[in-house]
Amino acid sequence: MAADPCRPDGRGEWLRFAPVQPLFRARAAQRLAVLAYHGVTDPRSFGAQLDRLRRLATPVSLDAVQQAVTERRPLPPRSVLVTFDDADRSVLTHALPALNDRGIPAAAFVISELIGTERPFWWHEADFLARHGGRARSLDCGHPSQLLRRLKAMPDPDRRRSLHELRVSADRRPPRQEQLTPADLLALRAGGVAIGNHTQGHPCLGRCDDVTVRAEITGAHEALTHWLGEPPVAFAYPDGGHDPRAEAVLQELGYRLGFLSDHRLGPRLPHHPLQISRLQVDSTTSTRRFDTILSGLEPAYRRWRGHAVA
Ligand SMILES: [Zn+2]
Repeated sequence: MAADPCRPDGRGEWLRFAPVQPLFRARAAQRLAVLAYHGVTDPRSFGAQLDRLRRLATPVSLDAVQQAVTERRPLPPRSVLVTFDDADRSVLTHALPALNDRGIPAAAFVISELIGTERPFWWHEADFLARHGGRARSLDCGHPSQLLRRLKAMPDPDRRRSLHELRVSADRRPPRQEQLTPADLLALRAGGVAIGNHTQGHPCLGRCDDVTVRAEITGAHEALTHWLGEPPVAFAYPDGGHDPRAEAVLQELGYRLGFLSDHRLGPRLPHHPLQISRLQVDSTTSTRRFDTILSGLEPAYRRWRGHAVA
C-alpha cells in the first residue's frame, strides 16, 4: 500500500511550505472552519493547536453559529468552531481545561445510551472481541483489519446480530470504559462546551430503516432534554454521512444545526444549516499540518489525490 503523505505522523508537513498555502489561507479567511475532534490523547499538542487558533483564527461558539443562521448574517472572517464527536471522558478531563485556559468555546456530540455507563464504544468492543476469539457468521471470511469497515457496511440489524455473536463467542469481555455522566454533561456546558445529539447508539444511519433512524435521533433527543433541562439544537451525523431521513426528523424536532464529517470548509453563513461541513483533526496533529488543514490545502490535496488514485 502506498504511503499516505497526509497521515498524522507528520509526513504531510511539506504541504505547509507549498507555494499555494498563502493563497489557501487567504481564501480560508472567508470560510467557516468547524474542527471535528474525537477525544484528546495528546493534551500538549492539543494546547498548541488551541494557541494556534487564538493567533490565526476567531474561535466562535455553537450559539454564535446558530445566531448567524437565524439572523442570516455571516460569521466573522476566520471563524472556527471546535467540536468533539462521541465525547469520551478526555473531553472533560483534557479538552475542557485547555479550552477554558484560552477562553475557547466548543461543542460535544454525545451517544446517549453510553452516558452514565462503563460500556465501550461498539467499534472498540468489536475489535477487542474479534481479537479474543469472537466469531460472527457474517464476518467469518475476510481479513481482521477489515472488520470495522465490514460492520459499518452491513445493514444495521446484521451489524447488531454480528456484535451479539462476537459477544457470546469471545473468550474475554472487553475492558470497561468509563463514560461521561449526566452531571459531566452539565459541567461541560457550564464550561462553555455545548452538548449536542450524536444519536442513541451510533449506528450508520444510512444502513438503518426509517423507524430506527427516527428512534435513534428521538431517543437521544429525549434523554438529552431530560439531562440538560432543555432540548439540544445541534446534531452530528454518526460517521459523518448525511442522511435525508435524519434531516427530516431533525427539522421536526426543531434542530438548528447539523454537522457532517466531509473534511471541507464551509461558507461563513451556512447555506444548509443541517449539513455543515467539518474538517477532521486530532490532538496529535502537528501544528504545521494543522495549519494546512485549517487553510483547506490539505483537504484539497487529499481530494485531488483521491481522484488521482481512483
Ligand atoms: Zn461519532
